[in-house]
Amino acid sequence: MDNLNKKDKAQLKELKSPMAVVDWAVNWFRKQSIFMLAYGTGCGAIEIPPTVTARYDAERFGVRGAATPRQADVIVLSGYLAVKTLKRVIRTYEQMQEPKYVIALGSCPINGGMYWDSYNTIKQLDRYLPVDVTVAGCMPRPEAVLEGFMALKDKIQRGEAEGARDYRDNIEKYKNNQKEIFGDKMLPGYTCDWYFSDGGSF
Ligand code: SF4
Repeated sequence: MDNLNKKDKAQLKELKSPMAVVDWAVNWFRKQSIFMLAYGTGCGAIEIPPTVTARYDAERFGVRGAATPRQADVIVLSGYLAVKTLKRVIRTYEQMQEPKYVIALGSCPINGGMYWDSYNTIKQLDRYLPVDVTVAGCMPRPEAVLEGFMALKDKIQRGEAEGARDYRDNIEKYKNNQKEIFGDKMLPGYTCDWYFSDGGSF
C-alpha cells in the first residue's frame, strides 16, 4: 500500500469485489512499465530524445525505449505520416504483442496539420490504426509528451486503453479504410487473419 499514491488508494477503496481488485492490480502493474518503440515518423520525433534523456527523464515515470516492436508496449507516432510510412507503421503495429497502445503526437496525425492538402500524407490516423491517446500541438514539447504518457497510464488503470481490442473487433473497417489509400498494395498478412484461420478466438 505504501507504493500507492492518493489517487490509487482512493480508486482501490471504491472497488466492491475481489475480481475488481485483481483487475485493478493487473492494470496497476501494467502501467508501471511502458516500453516505447523508437519509431520517429515526422518532425515531432525530435521531441522524443529530450523526453527520455536527463532533463525530462521519462524513466522516472516508468517509460523507456524498446528496440524492437515485439518488446514494445506503445508506438508513439510522432508527426505526419506519408502513405508509404503508414504502411510500415501498420506492419510494425501488427508485430507488437498485446496489450499494445498507440500515442499520436502533434496536429498532423489528428487532422493533417500543415500537410492537410498534401497528396501523399494521411489526414486522420485513427481511420487506419486505433489511437489510444492524442497529444495536440505543433510540435508538442516534452512536457506535453509526458502528459500524454500520464493520460495513457490513467486509461490503462481504468481499463479503457482498448485500442488493440477495437482494432481486432473492427479489423474489416480498418482494412477497408487502408484499402482506400493502398489500393491493391495492401499488407500481405494481418495477425487477426492468421489467428482466426487457425481456429483461434480472442
Ligand atoms: S504537427 Fe507540426 S511538428 Fe508535428 S509533424 Fe506536423 S508539422 Fe511537424
